[in-house]
Amino acid sequence: MKHQNHYLYFQKQILLMIFLSLIPGIVYVVFGYIYDVFLPAILWYVAVWMTALYGVILYIWFATHKMEESELSRWYKHLIAFMYIIFLLWTVIFMLYSTEVKHHLHYIAIFTQLGASVVASALLFSERKIFIPILLILMLPLIGYFFLVATWYGYVLSLFSIIFLGVLIYASNNTYMLIQKNYYHAQHDALTGLYNRRYYMEYMQFMLDRLALNHKKAYILLIDLDYFKSINDSLGHDMGDKVLQEVASRIKNTCELSHFIARLGGDEFIVVSKDIDQEEYAQQKVIGYAENLLAILKEPYIIDGQHLYLSASIGVSQIDTNFSHSNNFLKEADIAMYEAKKAGRDGVITFSKELEESVNNTLVIKQKLYNALHDKKIYLNYQVQVNKNQEAIGCEVLARWDDDDLGIVPPDSFIPIAEKTGLIIELGAYILLETFKTIDEWHERGLKIAYISINISVRQLFYSTFIEEIESLMQQYVHPKNTIKIIFEITESILVSDVEKVTDIMLRLKALGIIFSMDDFGTGYSSLSYLRNLPIDELKIDKLFINHLLESETDKTMVRTMLSIAKNFSLNVVIEGIENEEQFIFLSQYHCDVFQGYHFSKPLSKEKFEERYLIKM
Ligand code: C2E
Ligand code: MG
Ligand code: MG
Repeated sequence: MKHQNHYLYFQKQILLMIFLSLIPGIVYVVFGYIYDVFLPAILWYVAVWMTALYGVILYIWFATHKMEESELSRWYKHLIAFMYIIFLLWTVIFMLYSTEVKHHLHYIAIFTQLGASVVASALLFSERKIFIPILLILMLPLIGYFFLVATWYGYVLSLFSIIFLGVLIYASNNTYMLIQKNYYHAQHDALTGLYNRRYYMEYMQFMLDRLALNHKKAYILLIDLDYFKSINDSLGHDMGDKVLQEVASRIKNTCELSHFIARLGGDEFIVVSKDIDQEEYAQQKVIGYAENLLAILKEPYIIDGQHLYLSASIGVSQIDTNFSHSNNFLKEADIAMYEAKKAGRDGVITFSKELEESVNNTLVIKQKLYNALHDKKIYLNYQVQVNKNQEAIGCEVLARWDDDDLGIVPPDSFIPIAEKTGLIIELGAYILLETFKTIDEWHERGLKIAYISINISVRQLFYSTFIEEIESLMQQYVHPKNTIKIIFEITESILVSDVEKVTDIMLRLKALGIIFSMDDFGTGYSSLSYLRNLPIDELKIDKLFINHLLESETDKTMVRTMLSIAKNFSLNVVIEGIENEEQFIFLSQYHCDVFQGYHFSKPLSKEKFEERYLIKM
């Protein structure tokens, strides 16, 4: 693929060549008229005009069309033909006038032929395919002419012309090589030899204009290697470079014929499709293509005798200039790629409007959450937990956020964001404080409840002052005579961290009187060994298993198995997500202590919860 500027340069030369042919051409016609070679001269000049017309058509074609590669290469072939013809015409006029010795016209013919050669080497040097043959077309007749003069000075001039031809070819070739090298470096990434980011941007700008003009579509694949940093860190940058080269060569071998490929930097590559007709575009096909590429990138790498395994996350986005957002295609591919990373890496995700909304939503939540916490827009709900006799014995504290613009934001949306941004420390502290205040208030008012469960996120648990914080809350708000049991619900995600450290923290909290419950049991890293190692008191079976309990034999078996595991490990069991009587009846035949779900009550405000479950009339 040639640089766009290359074509642009040649397009400009068309006009120059037309000018340089038509103006001096008039002189030949006039001489032809004076010295009786008018007919051949005028025929020649008509041919020049027709060629000039051909040139103008080529010029306009280029100026008004945003051509894709195949059309561009067709145009370029015509351009080469134009250059051949126009210089060939100069050789024709040379042949015609070089024999007009009587009127000394041969001097003019010789000079123009030399001039044309200089012009050819000066204007056409950036394309070897053109300038070498054209110089030969111009100079060989001249060399032959001098030779045929058959005098000593004729032979000398013939020899000099050969040397002159050699010098012109040498000079043009040198400039050509230099230009090629500069072009190459300006366009390519030094490490992988793929196109670089700068050229990618130029290419895309041109492509977008072209797609808009031709009403076509394209797609891009943004490829980011997974955990590439760890290769650099553990095996060194040399190894990292070799891996990148191998990755680049795999992408090239797979996509080169039908795609534009560039390395955007680091371990990020981009693959852009050719222009596709609107009707031909099939998302499923693109995903299939990306998945195939992913499979190729995942094949083992053997570099310097080491076996390496890599995967990548690929974001796919469509370039459709009919939609205003088409200019954001890279951002869109980026969003999709990050989504693939979030979904566990090693996958392909296609950008969609919904995805964009969810990302924007996350952004808005991120921005608003901080203020929400400070403006006390976060409050707590309490969801009852009952025993087999459906008597309220406990509650789970659930955070709520009522935003003026967003409405009620579910904790599933804002808690993970708070965890990511670190705000969970402050948010968690606030939730704990409010909960402990409630515990104290209920005790003061004589409202009795056996358990209260609080969700604690991993980051919170690991926070340096967490234990001291709990200790101080216990001292301040839990009266020695208060019999309430405080349960901390943690999730299996805790297991990705240092299990010994978790155990230590949990044991220290247990010493303060805290009980631990494994929330959403069965949905995470369900490794049974942690049940043995971690000081857990309770399993909370997730609503995922309850949703289709009655219809699904598998879910029934799962729940039965989890219940028997709990029994074997002497753990208390809470089942959450019970939405109807049938589920409750089915579950109550097993060893299960506590039930929670909409069937008994949805989470309630503090006042409503007190009214319904605590204040006995
Ligand atoms: P979780 O701890 O598993 O909480 C149970 C979720 O299930 C709650 O959703 C509750 O309203 C919902 N639920 C209870 N019974 C039913 C039912 O019968 N059917 C259905 N469909 N849902 C039921 P919620 O309040 O939206 O909380 C979602 C998650 O957000 C919680 O899951 C918990 O992981 C997190 N979360 C909530 N509050 C806090 C908090 O204060 N701190 C932390 N770290 N996480 C919290
Ligand atoms: Mg919970
Ligand atoms: Mg849960």
